[in-house]
Amino acid sequence: MAKELSGIVWVDRFPTSNETSSLVPDFRDSCDDFIGALEDAGADVKINATLRPPERAYLMHWSFVLNNGEVEPDDVPPHDGVDIEWVHRKASGAPDVAASRAAAAAMVHGYGIVHRPSLTSLHIFGKAIDMTIGWDGTLQIKPKNKPKKSINSDPRSGLNHELWGVGATYGVLKLPSDPPHWSSTGH
Ligand SMILES: [Zn+2]
Repeated sequence: MAKELSGIVWVDRFPTSNETSSLVPDFRDSCDDFIGALEDAGADVKINATLRPPERAYLMHWSFVLNNGEVEPDDVPPHDGVDIEWVHRKASGAPDVAASRAAAAAMVHGYGIVHRPSLTSLHIFGKAIDMTIGWDGTLQIKPKNKPKKSINSDPRSGLNHELWGVGATYGVLKLPSDPPHWSSTGH
């Protein structure tokens, strides 16, 4: 089968899940319990991402690297199940590096990539979750196997350090440098 040229058409393929059901069983249970405790306490929780398929991680990583000029289009390695052609060509058949980088740039923009995409993110292994959390006033939340705790501190979001402690009791650990990101290890 002929490969399909890189470009924006790839962005909608291999979508990232926003369901906890796509996580590995242990971490899925941890997330369901933590999110349940948050919702019981009246917090708003919106899940933005859970499992990122490895095919998507590959496309994000290499479009970013190519757009940055760190590799030549024909040096991008292949990936099983992703029939993408990174090398665009001129009418003469010669590689068109500018067009190849422009197609990669369109993908980077389409994915909304801000940080360098990892090939080893715990999202690829179903052990990470991105979520937006918020509440008003005091959050009365139950840590796992402990009495309810009152959180009065700011910010009233997933960046609250007291909430990180509550998440940890469920096995959902905060990565401080990445605002929406929690995982099984804190990475
Ligand atoms: Zn994340």
